[in-house]
This record gives sequence, C-alpha cells and structure tokens, in this order.
Amino acid sequence: MSGRGLVIGNWKMNGSKAENESLLSGLLAETWSAEDVQVGVAVPSIYLAQVSQLLNGASVQYGAQDVSAHASGAFTGEISALMLKEFNVGFTLVGHSERRTYHHETDNTVLEKTKQALAHGIRPVICVGETLQQYEAQETESVISRQLHPLCDALTASEWANVVIAYEPVWAIGTGKVATPDYAQKIHKYIRDTIRNVAFETANGLKILYGGSVKSENAAQLRAMPDIDGALVGGASLKAEEFVKICRNFR
Ligand code: PEP
Repeated sequence: MSGRGLVIGNWKMNGSKAENESLLSGLLAETWSAEDVQVGVAVPSIYLAQVSQLLNGASVQYGAQDVSAHASGAFTGEISALMLKEFNVGFTLVGHSERRTYHHETDNTVLEKTKQALAHGIRPVICVGETLQQYEAQETESVISRQLHPLCDALTASEWANVVIAYEPVWAIGTGKVATPDYAQKIHKYIRDTIRNVAFETANGLKILYGGSVKSENAAQLRAMPDIDGALVGGASLKAEEFVKICRNFR
C-alpha cells in the first residue's frame, strides 16, 4: 500500500436506527486523524439522513450503496445523484456484484451510474470481480478488462482522479474464502496497469480496494501488498470492534 489507506464498510441491507447509532458510536470512539486511514460506511439510503446527522463533522465518511443511472423522472424506487448530494454523500458504491447479479446491471449501466456520481461531485467506488466459474476457468483478467472497458473509453484523466476501484472476487464475498494476498496483488496490479493506459498521471494515486471476506486476521497481509490501498468490508463491518481493528491495519 502506498499513501493513505481507505477502508469502507458496506452495511448492505442491514441496520436499524438503534443499531446504526451504536455501530457509529463504536467507530467514533477511535480517533481517525487527517493523516490516518480514511474510514467510510456505505449505508442503506433510507438511513442517510440519520447517518449524516450522526457523522456531522466527524472523521468517518458516509456514502450510498447505489445511485441511479438517470438524472430524474419516471424511475420508481430509484435515488438520483442529486438527491444523494443533498445529504452531503461523499461516495457511492457502483456495480457491486449483488447489484450486477440480482438487478442485472451491465457494464454500461455501471458507466452511466459512474457518470451521474461524478457529475454531482460524488466519488464512485466501482466494484469489479470475477465469479467462481470465471476464476476456475482462469478468466479473471479478461472479465476485469471487459468490466473496465466502457469506463476506460469514457472517463477523462481528471475524472479517474476521483474514482476508487474495488476488486471483489465474487467467490470471496460473504463466503469466508479470502483471496491470497499474492493473487489479490496480481489482479490489483493488472487493474492499475489497465488504468495507466488511459490515465497515466492518475494511475499511481488511484485507490484500489480489496473486498471479499476481509477480517482483522487477514487485513495486515493484504495491506502489505504494494497495490492494495484499502478494503471494502461487508459482514465484518457490522461489528464496531472488528471493523475498527481492520481499519487500524490500514494505517
Ligand atoms: C462486500 O459486500 O462488498 C463484501 C466484501 O462482503 P464480505 O466482506 O462480507 O465478504
């Protein structure tokens, strides 16, 4: 890892007003200084108002788990980037594998969502990664290349400076099977090299997070890898003590 680490907790569809308050007070019990690791939580949109109040002025950032590909209009149930901005959302996940699988999001949808986020000053955290079948067929690099392709074609170098990529092998999400640090490093380097071809100046500073069964026991080994800049953490981000331990590892 080079530079300041970034760790984001993805709460998925978990939480309640009471649980959110207690989880956040656990995170805020630790001091996260300006030079320290950056810590964020991606919360269900219904709780953004509550979380924005609880984190007002705090060192923990908050974001959404998804954003609409459209600016406004007849898209029942969707939430636009402009609406997120009203709640001072700093970042949003885009193209999480659960959205790609259950909501059939394509690589082009991911691009449209990314553009909406960037247009409203919200940092997209774009998730890419291969399924178990693709992993076993040794197709990881071609899958990642296909997922990044529309983004590489469309985004400018200055837009890349505001993007975060999360490499999340689908077979490692919520399964307890973490990618080996060497394997994750190889794919992170592949991602950085791919972006370097289109945004030479920003590729070195691009934050590439690893996601997939990150826990306090495996965080230090992942952090030691030169192209792993932080983590996207699902299940383990729901327990304050465990999430704080993971974040400390990325200092
Ligand atoms: C995720 O949902 O992005 C994730 C990485 O989940 P988990 O840490 O539970 O594998």
